[in-house]
Amino acid sequence: MYRTLHQRYPYAHCELDFDNPLQLLVATVLSAQTTDVTVNKVTPALFARWPTAADLAGADRAEMEEVLRPTGFFRAKTNSVLKLAAVLVDQHDGEVPGRLQDLVKLPGVGRKTANVVLGNAFGVPGITVDTHFGRLARRMGWTDEEDPVKVEHAVGELVPRKDWTMLSHVLIFHGRRTCHARRPACGACPVAQWCPSHGIGETDPDKAAQLLKYELAPGAQPTKGEA
Ligand code: SF4
Repeated sequence: MYRTLHQRYPYAHCELDFDNPLQLLVATVLSAQTTDVTVNKVTPALFARWPTAADLAGADRAEMEEVLRPTGFFRAKTNSVLKLAAVLVDQHDGEVPGRLQDLVKLPGVGRKTANVVLGNAFGVPGITVDTHFGRLARRMGWTDEEDPVKVEHAVGELVPRKDWTMLSHVLIFHGRRTCHARRPACGACPVAQWCPSHGIGETDPDKAAQLLKYELAPGAQPTKGEA
């Protein structure tokens, strides 16, 4: 199923824009309760104004709140960024640590954020269990676990470590584009033949194709009839 989904989304990637680990860490913290697209709209101004952890830690709170306002919960998020940057400066010389055990000790950073940063900024394989990943892993019969950490460990047993980061991207892409929370497009799903949940969504190929969101790979067709 992973191989087939990877063929459907060969271009799957982290949808947050970043140039270095600090930018990805901050962008991931900002992505709570909003979309990656919205975060990508504010981060260029944020990092142009405050490029380093020391700059962020010393930022004027009101000024940062204005920059972060479009992401929602901007006061809490400004607080998070200021605290996070201060700890990076105090305990890590302003650098983002590259180990899970250090990342999860940073304020506001859980396993999900840590794995995003490890997988995408440090090249360390990591499984990112967000809402899409958990829902799809259960629908596809990979695990019954609800707890994200248990899902991470259960799926990690099934898939080679080297594939963990890409697996995370591919499942998140599939969740955003095809296997939606409310109305999955089962009739246009490339793994329908193996999926124990096939039929919980729209199975008619034409109607299902209408439910697909975003782009398919260049030249790829929805798998009409394959279901
Ligand atoms: S068959 Fe339906 S439930 Fe299963 S992965 Fe595809 S879209 Fe999701």
